[in-house]
Amino acid sequence: MQAGDKAVITITGIAAGGDGVGRVDGAVVFVPGTCCGDVAEIIIEYVKSGCFYGRILRFLEKSPHHRTDFCENCDVCGGCNFAHMDYSEQLLVKRQIVEDAVQRIGGFCGFVVDKTLSAPKNERYRNKMVFPLGTDKKGQPVGGFYAPGSHDLIPLSDCRQGDSAASGWLSAAVSFLREFGISVYNEKTGKGLARRLFVRLAETTREAMVVLTINGDKLPHAEEFVKRLSAVKTEYKLTSVMINIHKEANNLLLGSQNKLLYGKEYIEDVLGGFSFRISAHSFYQVNSPQTERLYQTALNLAALSGSETVLDLYCGIGTISLFASKKAGRVIGVEVVPQAIENAKENAERNGVLNAEFILGKAEEVAPKLKKENPAVVFLDPPRKGADKKALEAIITMAPEKIVYISCNPATLARDLKFLCGEGYSLEKVIPVDMFPNTAHVETVALLTK
Ligand code: SAH
Repeated sequence: MQAGDKAVITITGIAAGGDGVGRVDGAVVFVPGTCCGDVAEIIIEYVKSGCFYGRILRFLEKSPHHRTDFCENCDVCGGCNFAHMDYSEQLLVKRQIVEDAVQRIGGFCGFVVDKTLSAPKNERYRNKMVFPLGTDKKGQPVGGFYAPGSHDLIPLSDCRQGDSAASGWLSAAVSFLREFGISVYNEKTGKGLARRLFVRLAETTREAMVVLTINGDKLPHAEEFVKRLSAVKTEYKLTSVMINIHKEANNLLLGSQNKLLYGKEYIEDVLGGFSFRISAHSFYQVNSPQTERLYQTALNLAALSGSETVLDLYCGIGTISLFASKKAGRVIGVEVVPQAIENAKENAERNGVLNAEFILGKAEEVAPKLKKENPAVVFLDPPRKGADKKALEAIITMAPEKIVYISCNPATLARDLKFLCGEGYSLEKVIPVDMFPNTAHVETVALLTK
C-alpha cells in the first residue's frame, strides 16, 4: 500500500490523538473524523514510520454515534476533532484512551480506569478563546482558526466551543481592523501589525478580558478599538482591554508585555467559593463548571485530615492550593510564571487564607529544597510534557503518603506514574475528567499511595 491507494476500512478503535484506527491488509491505518464501527472508503494520504494515514472518500456505513450536526466547519477547522462523535461516545473513548496509556505506556497491566466524569456543559464551555488573524483573498483582515496541522486560516464568524461573546468581539475587532486599514501580521514576512485576538471570560462574575496581540508597540486608533468592543452586546461586562506586544517570530500566544487600554489588567472569577484574580499570562482551566469538579475529585482522593502540610506543584494562580487550604494545616504552592504567583499570593490574601504560601520558581528546582517541610500530600498538575524527572525525584525523597497527579496528557501521566511506582508508590485510582468536550483532549486525576 502507498500514498494514493484507495481501500475500504472498518474503524475498530480511536488513537490517543483522536484519529479512528483500523486495518487494511493487516496494516494499521489512521483516519481522522471517524467513530468505532464506521465503514468507509478511504484514500491513503501519506505513510510515516510504518503507519498509514487515510482520508475519507465516502462512508459505506456510519456508527449510530456518528453525528454531523455539531458545526458546519468541522471538516475544515482543526479545533474539534471529536465533533463528529455524540457526547456519550466521547466519554467512553476518553476512558479507553487513558486506560490504553496507563496499561501500555505505564505498564500497569489490567489496571481498570474509572468512567470519565462528564462535563456539565459540553458546548460553549470554553472561557478562553484565542483567534489568529489573517487576510482573505482580497487582502482584507479576517479572524478564525487554523486548519488541522497547519497555519492556514479558516475564517469563522462563530465557534460553538466558546460563548457567543467571544465571537462578537472577534467580529468587532475584525471590522475595526478593516475600517482603519490596520495591517495583519504575516508569519512568512514578519510584517504587519495585528496577530491574534485573545478573549477570557469569568463565568461566575461575567467579567471579560480582550487582548489584541500586536507586532509593534502601539495600536493606532486604540480608543476607537475599545469603543467598538464596548458596543458589542453580550451578557459579559468588558472589564479589561489590553494590547500585548509580541514581535517575536514564534508560536507563543502572548509576548511578555501588556499595555492596558481600558479597565484592569486582570479579571476576577469565583470558583468553589473563592474569588480568583486572573491575568492574561496566568494559566486558568478553560472549562469553569467542570474545573470545580476536577479539583473536588482531586481533593476527595487526597482525603486530607486538616492538619498536614500539602505541596501544590505547578500551582498556577493557586486554585488547588486554596481549595486544599480549608482541609490542610499548611499549603505550599510552586509555579514558574511570575504573574501567576502574584495572582496566587493576592488570591490567598483576598480570600483570607492564612495557611497558604507561594514560591516562584521551577518545580524541579524548588521541590528539592522543600524536603524539610515534610509534606504528607503532594498535588502535581504539570503542563502537557509532564513532570520534570528532578521534580519527581524530589517528591520521592520527601516521601509523602499520597500523591495526587492531575494531568492533561495521558501519555506523560503514564510515563510519570511508572517512574513513581518503581520507587515505592502504588497506583490506586485513575479518573478521567472531561474538561475539553468535542476534542480528543482529556484530563485525568490519579491517586498514588506510599
Ligand atoms: N494547577 C493549576 C495550573 C496547572 S497548569 C490550575 O489548575 O490552574 C500547569 C502550570 O504549570 C502552569 O501554570 C505553568 O505556568 C506551570 N509550569 C510550567 N512549567 C513549570 C515548571 N517547570 N515549574 C513550575 N511550574 C511550571
